This record gives sequence, structure tokens and C-alpha cells, in this order.
Amino acid sequence: MCIFCSIVKGDIPNYTVYEDDKVLAFLDVNPTSVGHTLVIPKTHYSSLLTCDPEDLAYLMKVAQQLGNQLKEKLGAEGMNILSNAGAVAGQSVEHFHVHLIPRYKDDQVKIEFAQIEKPNFTELLEKIK
Ligand code: AMP
Ligand code: ZN
Repeated sequence: MCIFCSIVKGDIPNYTVYEDDKVLAFLDVNPTSVGHTLVIPKTHYSSLLTCDPEDLAYLMKVAQQLGNQLKEKLGAEGMNILSNAGAVAGQSVEHFHVHLIPRYKDDQVKIEFAQIEKPNFTELLEKIK
């Protein structure tokens, strides 16, 4: 059983921020900022890309509410809301989760996008569509 399923089951302790019948939110045990929270569906999906769309919509609604709650209660000025899908994208736990990362002035959080050479955008669009 995956580690987050064990948390949902109650076999591994967690610092619960919010819980209902479909969603659990708990503090990330290795926080990158104060209040770093994970929002997960209670049903196991490997990532956002395989999550049932209705469950995803509901989870994001909860994530929005919690994001605003964290911002208000902790005095954060902004927030990174992200989900890694696949090991190559930095996903280490294969149970869909959304990171809520409250941001503070002069915090040490590093989320950077390196820039690649500009592609042929027209050709690329043809490929994608
Ligand atoms: P990701 O790299 O996007 O898959 O994120 C997985 C996150 O889960 C990491 O930030 C870990 O710190 C966090 N994590 C792993 N195990 C636990 C746990 N038992 N309780 C809380 N957070 C955890
Ligand atoms: Zn799981």
C-alpha cells in the first residue's frame, strides 16, 4: 500500500489540516515554507493526470479554500500551488497530491524554470493539437 494510502487509513500519523469523506490535507513533513501543506484525494490515483475529473474538481475546490485559509492565518503574501506528475517531474510519492506552499517575503523557497531555446512554435502547435 502506498504511504499516503497508509496515512488515509490512519496507519501513519499526520498533522491533519482538513479532512472530509473525499479529501485529506496535512502538513508536509519536510516543509519548504511555514505551512507547506499537501492536499490528497482519499482514493488512490497515481497523479493529477490519472485522477477522476470530478474528484479532481472537488479536490481543487478544497485546495483553493485551504490556500486562502493558510494565507490568512499565517500571513503569507502569496502561494505556490503545484502538483508533480511522474518521477522525471520530481514526483516522489505516487499518490496524487497538490502542494500548497505559502510564500513570504524573503523566504528561501526555490521554484525556478530554466529557459530552453525557443522552438518553432507553429510546428510545435501542429504536433500538440
Ligand atoms: P512530491 O515530491 O511532489 O511527490 O512530494 C511528496 C511530498 O510528500 C514531499 O514534499 C515529502 O516531504 C512529503 N511526504 C512524504 N512522506 C510524508 C509523510 N509521511 N507525511 C507528510 N509528508 C510526507
Ligand atoms: Zn495511495
